[in-house]
Amino acid sequence: MSQQTSQEKTQKPLWALAYGTVVTMDAQRRVIPEGAVVVSGTDIVAVGPASEVLPRYPEADVLDVRDHLVIPGLINAHTHVPMSILRGLVDDQRLDVWLLGYMMPIEREFVDPEFVRWGTLLSCLEMIRGGITTFCDMYYFEDQVATAAAEAGMRAICGQTILKFPSPDAQSYDESLAYARDFIQKWKGHELITPAVAPHAPYTATDDMMRQCLELALEFDVPVHIHLSETRKEVEDNYRERGLPPILWAETLDLFRARVIAAHCVHIEEREMRVLAGHRAGVAHNPTSNLKLASGVAPVVQMRKAGIAVGIGTDGPASNNDQDLFEEMRLAALLPKGMLGDPTALPAQEAFAMATIEGARALHLDHIIGSLEPGKRADIVVLAWDGPHAWPHHQVDEHNVYSHLVYTAHAGDVRHVWINGRQVLRDGEVLTVDVERVYAETQQIAERIGQFLQKREASLLDKLLAIGGLERSETFEIQVKARITNPAHIEQVLQNDPDIEIVKHTVRQQYDTYFLFNGRRHGIIRYREDNVIRTTEERGALAPLDVEPIYTLTLLGPTHEREYGNSIILSRSRFTAPAVYSLRFYREYFQPTQVREVVKWRNRYRIRYKGVDFAVNIDKLSKPAQEISFLEIKSRTWSQEDALRKAGLATELLEKFGIRPEALVRGEYVDLAD
Ligand SMILES: [Zn+2]
Repeated sequence: MSQQTSQEKTQKPLWALAYGTVVTMDAQRRVIPEGAVVVSGTDIVAVGPASEVLPRYPEADVLDVRDHLVIPGLINAHTHVPMSILRGLVDDQRLDVWLLGYMMPIEREFVDPEFVRWGTLLSCLEMIRGGITTFCDMYYFEDQVATAAAEAGMRAICGQTILKFPSPDAQSYDESLAYARDFIQKWKGHELITPAVAPHAPYTATDDMMRQCLELALEFDVPVHIHLSETRKEVEDNYRERGLPPILWAETLDLFRARVIAAHCVHIEEREMRVLAGHRAGVAHNPTSNLKLASGVAPVVQMRKAGIAVGIGTDGPASNNDQDLFEEMRLAALLPKGMLGDPTALPAQEAFAMATIEGARALHLDHIIGSLEPGKRADIVVLAWDGPHAWPHHQVDEHNVYSHLVYTAHAGDVRHVWINGRQVLRDGEVLTVDVERVYAETQQIAERIGQFLQKREASLLDKLLAIGGLERSETFEIQVKARITNPAHIEQVLQNDPDIEIVKHTVRQQYDTYFLFNGRRHGIIRYREDNVIRTTEERGALAPLDVEPIYTLTLLGPTHEREYGNSIILSRSRFTAPAVYSLRFYREYFQPTQVREVVKWRNRYRIRYKGVDFAVNIDKLSKPAQEISFLEIKSRTWSQEDALRKAGLATELLEKFGIRPEALVRGEYVDLAD
């Protein structure tokens, strides 16, 4: 051996896996019993029967893996790796409650570079142990994801998330795009990391934002990673707002000029499949996540028939809750059988292809990974092929091995993993990540999140604030309520008393839904649909009004601050916000122990009495039905002294209206309902 070759040998170690069954996933789908894979440095240099290949590389270090399977590293085509920290925190909720009520508020509070780093390392540990060698990510602080993945020795496409609204790492999408530009410049050309631009989804994007994402991707020739057509609602909203389904809309923006990786595509039309196929866009199918969030089942068989490369993803560990590609492969193979009533719909070999070579095609990385072939990077997994679940070994034809891989094998069978020629798992032990440290750091963050959530769940105000649209501000109000038998008399006084000026009169129908909780100390939430039927301008006559109902959400303060004479009370903190989500959303989010409904007609007078503004409501309840009507007098106040003065004026008004003390009532209308 010459000096030159021996130096070559120290620079590029030459080694071989031999005598195991090699599942190549090459174009011929060769399965080689007693095969060998020879690796030099980062690359595979030879694959074939051990008896033919090994003699050509006498200097190679040989690792005997007989009774094992040698397969290409598995490819997780879509995930959000730092979300491993949120695994198991909130489950069994509808997508909006899960995302808007929990994930996003928690992310706003906790996602920072440390969270992303430790969450990524935890996911890398899990994925390496499960035979995943490449993942395609989308998250915030993606530079931290890339750094941690490279440290763990994993191959990754790292997509920096771009949203039209503020995110944990940016106040605006301009800021996200600037971050993405720096991030791409830093990582472009790295041997393991492919930086990418990740506009989150059509419903979190503007046209302009999408165009800028596209320009950035084209300028640096990096992929675009995006969620497309995940839910029926997303598609319906897109039709309503843009007149097109999401994928056709993306086409009008020329998005597919870039190398696109589209996650989900659950609700997708045939003409959209043709667009994806024509532009060679890849699709990431996420069976568990789509089932768990009840989004549906992607038409994988049809998409593959249309010529689309479909890979398999786990999606983020908060909606799965693991990153186990064996489980996903199995579901990918089983779901079309059940959905189409056809056991031949997606054979095991095809499901395994989706997790390897097809996944590589979907990620536009099939020139370097996805199969065991000379010239490709050495991303190799060695799987135990023993134990009761793996016995016996039928070798009637090659289908037997795919049946084992898809229907029987599990992540726990993975013994050794190499990525880019570097061993990252040996005998089930991850070599590149400090396991104990990752457990300790992520547990610490989990405990902080737990404290935050426990505190938030115990306070209706904090829960209300968490979903946004509400400013924390204190308001005080004096109010008094009375039963009245003759509402016409009150209206006469309002119209005729020289000291009372009617500023505005409206007639409303109000549908109130109250959420009650065990004990009243936390307060009550009221969801109101307020229909203004008729209104007056200044001193004018009532005129019909055709306006949309107004929806509000109000936290009725838990305590009465103090009580004056005549049952006049000073209440505190009645927080009100526009109700932007559905009643169903709030019911599932707040989980009240009781729900009560009150429906009433309200004559609402805004008056000025001795220079002070009051609201005078004359209410007639139709649910629960009440024979009599109610009078309410209310006024905003800011100080104890002001409250005292206004309580005095309210007493004067009660006298003017002829209200006797025994007619005064305390409490809310909700107390009348059962
Ligand atoms: Zn996702």
